[in-house]
Amino acid sequence: MNEICYDNLGPVRISHLYDPEIPFHAFVVIDNTARGPSLGGVRITHDVTPEEVARLARTMTFKSAAAGLYLGGGKSGIVADPQHPRIEEIVRRFARMIARMDDYIPAPDMGSNETMMAWIKEEIGRVAGLPEELGGLPLDKLGATGYGLSVCAEVACQQIGLPLNGARIAIQGFGNVGSAAARFLADQGAVLVALSDREGTAWSGQGLDLPAALKAHDQGGDMVAAAGGDRLPQEAIFGIDCDILIPAATPDVIRADNQGQIHARMLLEGANIPATREAEQLLAERGVLVVPDFIANAGGLIMAAAEYYGKTEQEAFDEIRTNLHHNTSEILQHSRRESILPRQAAEDIALARVLEAMRRPPRPRPLRLIEQAADRLLG
Ligand code: NAD
Repeated sequence: MNEICYDNLGPVRISHLYDPEIPFHAFVVIDNTARGPSLGGVRITHDVTPEEVARLARTMTFKSAAAGLYLGGGKSGIVADPQHPRIEEIVRRFARMIARMDDYIPAPDMGSNETMMAWIKEEIGRVAGLPEELGGLPLDKLGATGYGLSVCAEVACQQIGLPLNGARIAIQGFGNVGSAAARFLADQGAVLVALSDREGTAWSGQGLDLPAALKAHDQGGDMVAAAGGDRLPQEAIFGIDCDILIPAATPDVIRADNQGQIHARMLLEGANIPATREAEQLLAERGVLVVPDFIANAGGLIMAAAEYYGKTEQEAFDEIRTNLHHNTSEILQHSRRESILPRQAAEDIALARVLEAMRRPPRPRPLRLIEQAADRLLG
């Protein structure tokens, strides 16, 4: 699809990994490490490409910087079906292949999970997103990203004078992110009027059966059927009459050719890069407030970083709230003041932080080696 875009930030390294014995392909893209090692998810899908991974790695550079974390941006992709019968062998082999890339800390992403992170931990010791039994903060079970989206929604709703209590929500993709967002937003009085997954869309203007949909999600059932209401085609989710639309599935689902269907007042980006830049521009021209992905969905990263640095669950939730409340206010004010898109405002702030870090002289190498050795000894 798109070509990899190189600029003054990066990517600083792209590694193609291949094991002819299993066989599998994987890619690791380190976009920028000026602010610290890159913490980024391992995406496992049958069609992941280096271009997709590079775009996601750039999102991580901005997401970490915007969240004020001393981390860089990186991401990896394994071309495989997550249900592959040899998936454990594939993930363990991938881990051993990245053992020496100590500027990359793997974490869960689409297709990968906490169990896989435990396999990676056994192989190389360096990972975030572990199961609870291994000291992890299970960010999908806790709903870290969905919680962050609800904090973002609170601030963004104030900006456009939309009461969150009673706001009508539509969610594309009712997975870890979408279902947790629905749960936390409902706690604030929002009403879930539509949800979709690969099978279709469930819609009811009176509100869907959220507890039943959440139960179906947890038990791997049919969420569209469980939610009740009318069953519509998958793409119908974008045309639903609602106040807040949350894309929480795959990249590039909102494009110039279909953004016109959207009637929402706000697009709250739960997925990474769910809309093209052109679509975001057109939506803004129609008065739709777009809260960009790397601000809105930073909750998972903040919790993963909290786990990596040994913090508690409560500390992680507190950090998500403080951080996202402040960041959302800051970028929306900056966007208003300068008459620029919220994404541009967020990129300006993140970019300034990354460039400042890049201007600092690199730390003397022996000191870094001593620190890395100490990190390994301390665990
Ligand atoms: P998930 O696999 O748990 O859920 C994705 C859901 O989307 C599934 O229910 C799937 O059926 C559905 N889906 C896929 N294609 C669809 C389509 N065309 N139409 C409707 N539904 C579709 O994944 P997740 O962890 O919830 O992540 C979702 C998105 O959020 C991804 O883009 C991911 O990169 C991003 N994200 C996740 C986290 C996190 O903490 N998990 C953090 C930041 C960003």
